[in-house]
Amino acid sequence: MYRRPTILSLTTMREEGMSLLRAAGDLHMASALTPEVLQREIQNADALVVRTAGTIDAALMDAAPKLRVIGRHGVGYDQIDIPAATERGIQVVYTPGANVIAVAEHALAFAIGLSKHFPQQMLALREGRYNDRTKLVGFDLPGRTLGIIGFGRIGRRLATLAHALGMRILYNDLVAAPLKLETHLGAHRVSLDHLLGEADIVSLHVPLDDSTRRIMNARTIALMKPGGYLINTCRGPVVDEYAVAQALDSGQLGGYAADVYDVEPPPADHPLIGRSDCLLTPHSAAQTVEGLINMARGVAEDVIAVLRGQLPANPVNNPDDVAASRARLGKPPLTDGFPI
Ligand code: NAD
Repeated sequence: MYRRPTILSLTTMREEGMSLLRAAGDLHMASALTPEVLQREIQNADALVVRTAGTIDAALMDAAPKLRVIGRHGVGYDQIDIPAATERGIQVVYTPGANVIAVAEHALAFAIGLSKHFPQQMLALREGRYNDRTKLVGFDLPGRTLGIIGFGRIGRRLATLAHALGMRILYNDLVAAPLKLETHLGAHRVSLDHLLGEADIVSLHVPLDDSTRRIMNARTIALMKPGGYLINTCRGPVVDEYAVAQALDSGQLGGYAADVYDVEPPPADHPLIGRSDCLLTPHSAAQTVEGLINMARGVAEDVIAVLRGQLPANPVNNPDDVAASRARLGKPPLTDGFPI
């Protein structure tokens, strides 16, 4: 007899995605995000939808024998144990591209805000130090060098915006961008050390993994131009926040801007929050109307595709590996989908 799929969501999202999920199956909202509650509420789930909160580890997956698909509303999927999902025949999908414009524009806003001393100027105004405006001299972006670490979707979009403003682009990535794009943007792929030594502003756009954790630390920050600016809109642990605080104190860094933190939400005694040389937002870079609609629709469509037995548009783990695990475990193939 036909059974509607059960979908557990750890997050609310735009109605554009919620309505698709409700039409496709029985949608339940998790009542809390603690491991105990999630282990109980995931038991009957065929699909799981997550945002940034909630740890999706092997133990949680083992509590959900029917789970077929995990959908990540967003881009970074470091809170999901991907190898564990693959071993269990669970397809993971995400929404790359959905918030590229939002995050790239956020990073550009940070670059503009730092180069014009927005945090110090706002504080001076608030504290009645009106004439400090003449001491806080900023700089224009044309002709300045932007160093982009991680030249993927967001990094490239930022490069396009910065190029339009007349900035020079250096980038560091494991892989080279197409020559046509490099030529169009006048972008050069260089080593990390070379980039750090030349850039006036360094912006981070890498995923969080073992190769990027603390990529910006006391040693690498010391390689930056004295007084340079660092921007982090990717993931907090990519940066050593204590090394940033020390470099701001010494003047090695002229300013720091971030949307992400080592621990989120950051603790009250965070080393950077409240400093006048930092421009900080609460992991809100993707929070634009367009970004939120794209993410909600994108994750819902891909979760439903997997439930239907179709290939997802944006898989994280390889569908062939997922299928092989399911065959090995004697689980029904994902192609044997729900008639949604
Ligand atoms: P992407 O996968 O398109 O690009 C990432 C790039 O980083 C790739 O080109 C990859 O080759 C490169 N890279 C990986 N490891 C590297 C290393 N060790 N050194 C140099 N380059 C390396 O991803 P994207 O869509 O551009 O997003 C980048 C990151 O931004 C995401 O992983 C996510 O963590 C973060 N993000 C944050 C927000 C936010 O709300 N602040 C929103 C979206 C994405």
